[in-house]
Amino acid sequence: MPSYTLALLPGDGIGPEVVAASIKVLDATLEKLTDVTFRYDELSVGAGEYLKNGDPLPASAVERMKVADAMLLGAMGLPSVRWPNGVEMTPQIDIREQLDLFNGLRPIKLYHASHSPLKGYGGAGEKTIDFVIIRENCEGLFVDRLRPREPNPEFETDTMKITRHGAERVCREAFKLAQKRRKHVTLVDKANVLPSMAFFRKIFDEVAEEYPDVGTDRVYVDAMSLFLVQHPEKFDVMVTENMFGDILSDLAAGIVGGMGMAPSGDIGPEYALFQPSHGTAPTIAGKGIANPIATILSVALMLEWLDTPETARGARLIESAVAAVMGDPANLTTDLGGNTGTDAIADLVITAL
Ligand code: ATP
Repeated sequence: MPSYTLALLPGDGIGPEVVAASIKVLDATLEKLTDVTFRYDELSVGAGEYLKNGDPLPASAVERMKVADAMLLGAMGLPSVRWPNGVEMTPQIDIREQLDLFNGLRPIKLYHASHSPLKGYGGAGEKTIDFVIIRENCEGLFVDRLRPREPNPEFETDTMKITRHGAERVCREAFKLAQKRRKHVTLVDKANVLPSMAFFRKIFDEVAEEYPDVGTDRVYVDAMSLFLVQHPEKFDVMVTENMFGDILSDLAAGIVGGMGMAPSGDIGPEYALFQPSHGTAPTIAGKGIANPIATILSVALMLEWLDTPETARGARLIESAVAAVMGDPANLTTDLGGNTGTDAIADLVITAL
């Protein structure tokens, strides 16, 4: 009987609340599956751990992540807890790099017209929003953020690094995903200005030849910001570098209700971590009003990734329950303009399983 160990990294801010609500949903889902069990290994990682013990990502925690079958993360970092150079601690980015979680999967789906600021989407007979952004997680513009630097009062630089290996593997993931969906991949880049992006496009074009059944197009990142607002229904799978993916996934979340509706998976050759796309939302932490749907949907992504018929069935059960609950405009969390709390939404999802 498959028995999985799930490393839980609740983290800071609203992380612990949304993880607890999602584990309740996972436990209820497991009751409906045959012979699938989970053991939870809770790890202390993040700004809170730094304040307690001086390291936001202890090596011992990383070792325990490596022996788990998957990881579920809440949110990490707090605005008041920073390194001496002024940047926030971002153990969630360090984990991606240390565990080579290069494939940043960000599904974007609209469940009800009232969640979107765009008109003409999500109602009966209206257009739908249903696409996936694949963000390269291990290189791009974030790549040398940890490079030791001499303090210079006049300038600072960051480097955009695209390697053949990194670009090839992330583009292949985009094409493989598109083959299971509507068979279209859009490359998002800035190939008209940046040589690193022209290189990314060249590799994308080479990989595209391996997948003749998948259609392609290429859009500059500035134009994509416009198109995501004007006609998001036209996109199926997008692939882009780290920083562009970071920015576009927030924009994309905004058109389906906000960060509380956007799940993600960070997947590598050996390990995989699932987490809501949002951060710690410190202003609402501890109030019981955080929207847990992004984390619940991240649990569904995890079950799908575990890739057995029963875990895949569990993923579908959660997705359908979320669609039923969030498809009812009576069930709105505060970020969507309602007043249903974190636990109440999780309980509704459990009832709908
Ligand atoms: P961080 O610095 O950790 O990224 P943040 O608050 O700056 O935190 P996000 O957490 O991504 O950034 O949140 C952006 C906005 O969306 C905030 O106004 C936050 O309150 C809101 N928000 C994010 N996640 C949720 C959620 N799950 N439920 C309700 N509101 C949320």
